[in-house]
Amino acid sequence: MHPFTYTRVSGTREALDAGRLGGRYIAGGTTLVDLMRETVERPDTLVDISGLPLREILVAKDGGLRIGALARMAETAAHPAVRAAFPVIAQALELSASAQLRNMATIGGNIMQRTRCTYFRDVSADCNKRELGSGCAARDGFNRMHAILGTSESCVATHPSDVAVAFAALEARVHVLGPDGARDIPFGDFLLRPGSTPNREQALAKGELITAVEIPALPRPLTSGYLKVRDRQSYEFALTSAAVALHIRGGVIREAKVAAGGVGTVPWKLSAVEQALVGQRPSDALWTAAAARAADGARPLHHNRFKVALLKRTVERQLRVIGGSK
Ligand code: SF4
Repeated sequence: MHPFTYTRVSGTREALDAGRLGGRYIAGGTTLVDLMRETVERPDTLVDISGLPLREILVAKDGGLRIGALARMAETAAHPAVRAAFPVIAQALELSASAQLRNMATIGGNIMQRTRCTYFRDVSADCNKRELGSGCAARDGFNRMHAILGTSESCVATHPSDVAVAFAALEARVHVLGPDGARDIPFGDFLLRPGSTPNREQALAKGELITAVEIPALPRPLTSGYLKVRDRQSYEFALTSAAVALHIRGGVIREAKVAAGGVGTVPWKLSAVEQALVGQRPSDALWTAAAARAADGARPLHHNRFKVALLKRTVERQLRVIGGSK
């Protein structure tokens, strides 16, 4: 392991000062420590922010949520307000990782986690995300788990988070604090597609710290849920997944929020599916027709062509679960 210094901070100003000087923030450590052991990550300075007061989960007057960046995955999934208002978030968290990891890992760390591409984690393999310009071993290698949407010549890795798919569907906002003050970033702009710089993964400036994820209020009643399809039923990443939230009033779908995981280089907002749903009456025929748009623009690789059909079926099944079979 590369030698590093470790500092534990107790205030956000102290954290920002350390971040401005190039320190890497660490909280639960469930991803970063693994990567340091494998020498994929080689930070010189770790700034432990786990003692900062960023753990609260607050319900806004309008029914939205503000989830502190240091809230643990397990406590967020168990929070009564999260379970009542946005089951899609609770379900996505409960289907992630293992119980031990969910007890340690934070919401901020979850959305910052790095890809599970095996070549990224193998320092002997070519990987543009780890070392820009070295190539992409996955393109001609074993790419069954890789992305079919949002890929580039440089990188085809998926984003591994489940709860980020729920955040993308619900159009969350990421609140950050930096040397120049506070700002918030639409979730759809927070995680970056690889393009020609897959080493840059988030729209964060140097030293910026995530403080919270805000879920905007949505009209009620809202029914939501998360479906994850994977090779085994626990402790496994998604082949495909679907986060769906529907507001149905007077027998008509008034709002539809849909995103997919396991298929995109970032959590993939399914705008074409949403557009096909809004203003329509729920029916099995509608679920099938809307889900047929889920893989629009897909560019499958040699080993993951099956994801095109699997994604459509995943979305169709979850629309039926949330909207009802008619
Ligand atoms: Fe690296 Fe991305 Fe290629 Fe994987 S897909 S080897 S992360 S460049």
